[in-house]
Amino acid sequence: MDADILQIVLRERFGSLALDFVNTVVVTRSGPVDAFSGAGDVEAWMERAGTPAWSDLQPRGVSERRVLHTEALQLRVSIDTLLGDTAAGRTVEGPTLHALNRVLGWTRSSSRVVAGARGPHTLEPTYEGLHPAASLAPIVEDAIRLVSSVDRSRLRRCRAEGCLRWFVDTSKGGRRTWCSMATCGNRAKAARYRARHEGDIDAA
Ligand SMILES: [Zn+2]
Repeated sequence: MDADILQIVLRERFGSLALDFVNTVVVTRSGPVDAFSGAGDVEAWMERAGTPAWSDLQPRGVSERRVLHTEALQLRVSIDTLLGDTAAGRTVEGPTLHALNRVLGWTRSSSRVVAGARGPHTLEPTYEGLHPAASLAPIVEDAIRLVSSVDRSRLRRCRAEGCLRWFVDTSKGGRRTWCSMATCGNRAKAARYRARHEGDIDAA
């Protein structure tokens, strides 16, 4: 994958690691592009997106890296289902619940006290990896934090054709339509402009 796609997918962050993770397919002018098309791509994203405990949990060696790639693609589908069910006011069905719990089982987590910038002492989660794809567990935790706290009427899928990205509309009016102005918003604007312009020609 070229570095540009990683730059495009990370140009706009969605306020939650789980949303950033699920939004790694972007519709560009030349069609949808997957930032996770190869094993190295997932690792580059995990590193750049600032996944918690990545340096401790990252896979070692070729076969572990392949496992992370396969599991990341599956988890992306599970989180998409979780978001869809949440937005529709439903709880997820057994297989999705099982898939999410399976990933959570790949780490043993505890916490430690650190002297932090945000106060004299804070609790920081620590993870011990038990599986090559253990680094995905913090993303599941973030997804559950999101769906248990979000106003579901503000959790939306992008309205652009072919775009599957999710966002939480935090705008005052609550009328946000696109995942990103830089991609889908601009394409929609250009399409509207073209439609208007073609109308002018027809009318002439
Ligand atoms: Zn979009």
